[in-house]
Amino acid sequence: MAEALFDVSVTRCPRCGKLYVDASWYVAEIGSDMGCGVCRSAFNSKRNITDRVLLKFDLDEGGRVSGVSLSKSLLP
Ligand SMILES: [Zn+2]
Repeated sequence: MAEALFDVSVTRCPRCGKLYVDASWYVAEIGSDMGCGVCRSAFNSKRNITDRVLLKFDLDEGGRVSGVSLSKSLLP
């Protein structure tokens, strides 16, 4: 069985508290502004990170996902 890793960050809307999960390159590296889908306010993703983790995807021979698990936390 093959595996692949996905680095993701959790962000929280500072206005309404809605939580989002996005690719870390977009949040932690670029620090893009995001628009909240609930309250419509715009906020900086990097300044509102609550967690960053590495997800592990278990893949079959055809590259299809058979499972996902938490590999490790990336925040100190
Ligand atoms: Zn919001």
